[in-house]
Amino acid sequence: MKYTITMSCGHEERIELFGSTKERDRKIDYFMSQGLCSECYKKKMQEEAEKEGFNFNSCVLPYISNEDGSILLSVWFSGNTKPFKDDIKSLGGYSWSERETGNDSYLLSKPMMCWNKVIKLDELEDEIIKAESIGANNIVTEKNLFEICHYQIALKKQKKWNEKKAIIESIEKPTVPEVLKGCTWNQKIYGRSGGYTIYPNGNKISITDDQKKEIENYLKLKKNIKIKLKLLTRCRNERHEKYIVDKCVKY
Ligand SMILES: [Zn+2]
Ligand SMILES: [Zn+2]
Repeated sequence: MKYTITMSCGHEERIELFGSTKERDRKIDYFMSQGLCSECYKKKMQEEAEKEGFNFNSCVLPYISNEDGSILLSVWFSGNTKPFKDDIKSLGGYSWSERETGNDSYLLSKPMMCWNKVIKLDELEDEIIKAESIGANNIVTEKNLFEICHYQIALKKQKKWNEKKAIIESIEKPTVPEVLKGCTWNQKIYGRSGGYTIYPNGNKISITDDQKKEIENYLKLKKNIKIKLKLLTRCRNERHEKYIVDKCVKY
């Protein structure tokens, strides 16, 4: 039977009630004291979502990809997703549906509708970056999953590092001119043809024109190597970069 009930928010709502008279009266009492009309309910849900923020979630699914044996994850957005609807769509692959779950089938509650998709584990890193790029402010992943993911990232980085190291080692280093070996030097040559001087370790040393040429050639080669290394060791942190280059190029 349909009733028009004045909800606790003060608005009227048509609601169909079943059960015994006693049961129906109990429900009517509940709606009048605590119920919200559908408009106020929507508003309340939206407020709660806004409070929760815009979250990216992921969890491991209990099966792997038939295609290549990859570990699979369900990823989804939760919280205040409404203003981000178009952004989420633009990321590709997400659909508004009941998400694939590993354990929710044990729960009696209705599967959650959300923006979700299934990805492979090695795609997680990129998906997190993408989620952050559209404004997800909270990244929620299972702790052990994070560890797996970090392990994968570390493995990838280690591989890159090894590749770099091999390249760096294969770069031919110029021979340090005898007079400069083991010295700190300001890289300045003073004087003129027939009477050049340098100050390695602060001590004045006269050099021949040939020695001058050798030193200049050495500096030029060293500069080229520095540029090569700089490209190889490119890092977001400039100080790291300088450190790596300095470690590789010594007298
Ligand atoms: Zn209302
Ligand atoms: Zn770094």
